[in-house]
Amino acid sequence: MPLETLSPSRASDFKLCPQLYKFRSIDKLPEPTTVHQARGTTAHLALQNLYDLEPAERTPEKLYDLFREAWTEIRGEEEFLDLFTTMEEERDWGVDSMKLLANYFSVENPLEVHPLEREMDMLEPLGDITIRGILDRIDETPTGELIITDYKTGKAPPERFAEPAFFALKIYALLIREKLGRTPAEVRLLYLNGPTLYRLAITDGQLDAMNQQLQALWKAIDRAIESQTFPPRVNKLCDWCSYQDLCPAFAEVTAPAAAVG
Ligand code: SF4
Repeated sequence: MPLETLSPSRASDFKLCPQLYKFRSIDKLPEPTTVHQARGTTAHLALQNLYDLEPAERTPEKLYDLFREAWTEIRGEEEFLDLFTTMEEERDWGVDSMKLLANYFSVENPLEVHPLEREMDMLEPLGDITIRGILDRIDETPTGELIITDYKTGKAPPERFAEPAFFALKIYALLIREKLGRTPAEVRLLYLNGPTLYRLAITDGQLDAMNQQLQALWKAIDRAIESQTFPPRVNKLCDWCSYQDLCPAFAEVTAPAAAVG
């Protein structure tokens, strides 16, 4: 079945490793939820809700409360049910989560942030293709510039390795230009576990190139679906791939060297 929509994260998957894309998007093989993913989901909800409050109320204590409320709301969902074996484990996870959230205030001053949208659900046609995704936050500065921010709760990589994460953000910048007719000035990766903020200035030339890249990627995915060809591509993120046990390439890479007689 040909592709109907493509999200920035699935586009990143295919670019990184076509086999990973197949496991995740075609076979839809489930991936175990980890404590890190649970923390990421809960922290995103808390940060989203922080900006429902008046600026003066956006304090660390309030953010911790919002995290607790968000976790209470979602902890009964099936994917989180078997995450912790004891209450102590869950409590320690909560304490570590608070430490991570405290970092937020060393990266941004929430009094100075003016979100236009949060958790923005986007579905945009780009020529013959359609891209859909959820953007964490878009702000408008007092001088009228648009800034796209993506929250990350995983460990911040060295800046030279942040390019794959910027790839998805440039797609969101392109979608915003398409939707609002305005080119975002900058995209930002906000790593709570650093803490650090990586910034990339955006130009129309970059977004035009991204548009072309997406059109080509869409065609490549369609060809892969038609021919059922999804070669594994070993990469630096294989160590975190949920499908290592199913992947022939990973088995080869990690097999001990044959003994020399
Ligand atoms: S282990 Fe690596 S090569 Fe194999 S599917 Fe996952 S990302 Fe691709």
